[in-house]
Amino acid sequence: MLLSLQGLTKHFGDLPVLHAIDLEIQQGTTTVVIGPSGSGKSTLLACINLLEIPTSGSIRLGERQLRFSPAGKPNPRAVQAFRRETGTVFQGNHLFPHMTALENVMVGPIAVRRMNRADAQAKAIALLEQVGLGAFRDRYPYQLSGGQQQRVGIARAMSMEPQILLFDEPTSALDPELVGEVLEVMRSLIRSGITLIVVTHELEFASRAADRVLFMDQGAILENGTPEAVFAHSRHERVRQFVSRLA
Ligand code: ADP
Ligand code: MG
Repeated sequence: MLLSLQGLTKHFGDLPVLHAIDLEIQQGTTTVVIGPSGSGKSTLLACINLLEIPTSGSIRLGERQLRFSPAGKPNPRAVQAFRRETGTVFQGNHLFPHMTALENVMVGPIAVRRMNRADAQAKAIALLEQVGLGAFRDRYPYQLSGGQQQRVGIARAMSMEPQILLFDEPTSALDPELVGEVLEVMRSLIRSGITLIVVTHELEFASRAADRVLFMDQGAILENGTPEAVFAHSRHERVRQFVSRLA
């Protein structure tokens, strides 16, 4: 397994948001996470990339393992090292507004990985070409459509060569006509063999692209199965209702 969560719990103050999540994700697979608003999908991703520190439990990603306890914070260096193994694309645009597309994709490798400028630039150009934006590299975010901005965001996440890419509703803020181009880039990443976890309500994408679908409900994984099993044959009334509203 590339990623294993064991008994992963997250509380915000007194509010329990994730309840002892166990999850295993195989390298090179795509996992789609669905579920009602407030069920803990974003918090699950945030606990995997350690933007939030879990309250208890453990996470293993590749060779790295971290254990969490309410009694003490994990070692900050270990957290940093772990974070660098993940890349995240959020719903909204989180590009640096004062940097061009190219600079947005170069900045991580230079600042964090200490890559030299020429190498970082060559790599960023290749990544922008991979997401179909080779000709747009000198544009600033405000000169790009929402779909193009998300594609730059994907290239930026890839620039750090993460072991796993996390997407939190990457197309939810987009005009409908821009959704397809972002999903197409995600499909090309899947073909390239990278491991993805995607929170999305794009049923069609999930059905075709996902190896596994997780349904989250009230901070727990209510169901974890193939798209066919979850979308067409769920034993759970809540899942069937949710899916029928999406379709
Ligand atoms: P989803 O992404 O499935 O909509 P979230 O993970 O964003 O759900 O939220 C799960 C629950 O955790 C919600 O009740 C939400 O209000 C709460 N929550 C999320 N982030 C925070 C936070 N930073 N502080 C306090 N409560 C939070
Ligand atoms: Mg969310």
